[in-house]
Order: sequence, then structure tokens, then C-alpha cells
Amino acid sequence: MKLYEHISLKPYNTFGINQKADILIEASDEKDILEALTSYPTLKVLGGGSNILLTQEVKTPLLKITQKGITTERENNSHIWLKAQAGEVWSELVDYCVLRNYGGVENLSLIYGSVGAAPVQNIGAYGVELKNAFHSCEAIDRESKQKVIFYKNDCNFGYRDSLFKQSKGRYIILSVTLCLTKKEHFFKTHYGNIKALLTEKGWEETPAHISQVIKQIRQSKLPNPIELGNSGSFFKNPIISREHLLSLQKTYPELPHYWVSVTQEKIPAAYLIESCDLKGYRIGQVGVHKGQPLVLVNYGNASGEDILSLAHYIQGQVKKRFNIQLEMEVNVW
Ligand SMILES: Cc1cc2nc3c(=O)[nH]c(=O)nc-3n(C[C@H](O)[C@H](O)[C@H](O)COP(=O)(O)OP(=O)(O)OC[C@H]3O[C@@H](n4cnc5c(N)ncnc54)[C@H](O)[C@@H]3O)c2cc1C
Repeated sequence: MKLYEHISLKPYNTFGINQKADILIEASDEKDILEALTSYPTLKVLGGGSNILLTQEVKTPLLKITQKGITTERENNSHIWLKAQAGEVWSELVDYCVLRNYGGVENLSLIYGSVGAAPVQNIGAYGVELKNAFHSCEAIDRESKQKVIFYKNDCNFGYRDSLFKQSKGRYIILSVTLCLTKKEHFFKTHYGNIKALLTEKGWEETPAHISQVIKQIRQSKLPNPIELGNSGSFFKNPIISREHLLSLQKTYPELPHYWVSVTQEKIPAAYLIESCDLKGYRIGQVGVHKGQPLVLVNYGNASGEDILSLAHYIQGQVKKRFNIQLEMEVNVW
């Protein structure tokens, strides 16, 4: 176990915000984690810092799980169950699967962050969510200090949502087990231009080819946090009622929307922000990305508060024009 005091979190968050933490503990196994919890019962978990916005110094002790390892739990002719420790890097786990032709997570290539955080917001991209390949996870329940196992149906997974997010830090995820296909994969290639790119390259649908195409699309669309601080999509795509959609369509007949249920439709937040003429908008050190309006960027030395003010401004503009309240996907600390 390593303990750092008054440490700058700049290298620990993809927005590149320079805020300090009073205490940061690195724990490389379960014993360390339990010890840290005993000494600092109020601690918060920090993963790769790719979905947090630091708006103030962090007084609550932080726990960073560094435990790595990917093991095969079981397998049969058609499936394999892989267990990855919380400190593994998510995109490296995807590469591990793709390299071995295991299917199920190829659409989630190049998503930032740790394996331990992946169930928290049920990460998703290109028509696939973690829940599709999720089998179970092990966690420590801070209330009972016991280790618990959650299976898929226990996790209350929703769009960028889960039991772990709803219970606001009660569970510390130690490992995640995925159930992946070894053959007869079920690919989702209808999203974006995945299919068109595969055809253009003359590639058949395999986990490796789909992963490669998705990496290419993501790299062409999303800013790299190493070059331009950001945390991916800042807002969730709002879900509105069908009545609301019908009334908006009178003014905006071209408004894109996706079926959620008989009564609800999802609207791309990027479209709403762009319609408010905010794509590429910049104020001082912060801005809305030129290519992807869902992404807010730090042009240099922005503070978390600067980014938060921009987020509030965007919310206000979208509310005024569409009467839709954008919800933040990023966790504000
Ligand atoms: C360029 C870019 C692109 C992105 N694209 C996508 C995308 O396509 N789809 C998507 O869904 N997300 C995307 N994200 C967001 C981010 O990658 C995910 O939310 C990721 O799961 C966050 O992981 P993290 O380890 O960085 O978590 P952190 O940001 O460190 O933490 C996020 C939350 O999870 C909690 N947490 C972290 N680890 C644990 C643990 N072990 N146990 C319990 N709680 C924990 C933290 O306390 C915090 O509340 C993107 C981010 C970036 C920077």
C-alpha cells in the first residue's frame, strides 16, 4: 500500500485539472483495500479519472486500486468467462479479448478508464453496453465490510446507470467477470459507419476487425485527452416523452430521435448543443469541441469550475430552446 499526501491530481484525471488531494492511497490487493477502508472509512474510489470533474481540493481520502490480472474462470465450446481485476485498464482488457477472438466487447474498444469503474456507469458505445457481456462482479460492501457478488440481474443496469452509481459509492468493485463468445459471435455493426468501413476495407466481421474500425472512428472523432483534456461525452442523451417530441417536431421537423419505449424517445444531446450554435464555442480556457459537441475540453489551464460554468451555460441554452434538461454524465467532485 502506498500513501501520498497533498498530491496534485493533474496526472490522475483526463481533464487535466490541477487540484490536490489530501490523501491518495494506492492499493494493490484486497488486504490493502480493507486496511485502507479501516483507516479511512469515508474514502472515495478513483479509477482512471476519465469520468470525473474536479471542482475543488479533495479532502476525502482517495483510494486507487492498482490490482491487475485477467484469468479464465471457466469455458466450454461456445463461451469463456474471463475475470479481470479492478485495476486493469478497460481498453487493454478489450484488446486481450479481441486478440484471442473472444466476442462481446469489441464495440467498447478504446473507452478510457479502469475495469473497476466500467459497471458503475454501464459503459457503452456503438450500440453495445457493458451489461451485454457482463456476467458478475465482486465488490466490498462498505456497510457490512463483506465481500459480495453481483450477477447481471442484481446490478440494475440502465443507460449510463447501475446499482453502483445509484448507491453512491457503497460498493467498491474488486473484479469484473465477462461472459464472451468463442465462436458464433453476435456482432452489432449497424451503428455509425462501422459496416461501411468494414466493406471499404474488404474485411469480414470478426472481433479484431470491428475493434480496429471502431478505434479508427473514435480516433478521428474524439480528442485525445493527452493532447486536449476532456472526459468524453459530458452529457447523457436525454430521454423525453413522445408528446414532448411531437410538440418539438412542429418547430424542428428534422429532430433526430431513437425509440426507447412506447412512450419515450432518446434525443442526441450533440444535436441539441449544436442547434444552440455552441459547437466549437470557446470561452477562455474551456470550450465545446469543434468536432464533437458532446465533449467539453480544457484548452490549457482551465479549472474544474470553468468547465462546470460552461456546462451550466449549455444546459441553460438547451433548456431555453428545447425545454429539455441535459443531465451530466460526468461525476462532479
Ligand atoms: C476520451 C474519452 C472517451 C470516452 N468514451 C466513453 C464511451 O464511449 N462510453 C462510455 O460509457 N464512457 C466513455 N468515457 C467515460 C469513461 O471512459 C468511463 O466512464 C469509465 O468507465 C470511467 O472509468 P475510470 O476508471 O476513469 O473512472 P473514474 O473517472 O475514476 O471514476 C468514475 C466513477 O466510478 C467510481 N469508481 C471508479 N472505480 C471504482 C471501483 N473500483 N469501484 C466502485 N466505484 C468506482 C468513482 O468513484 C467515480 O464515481 C470516455 C472518457 C474519455 C476521456
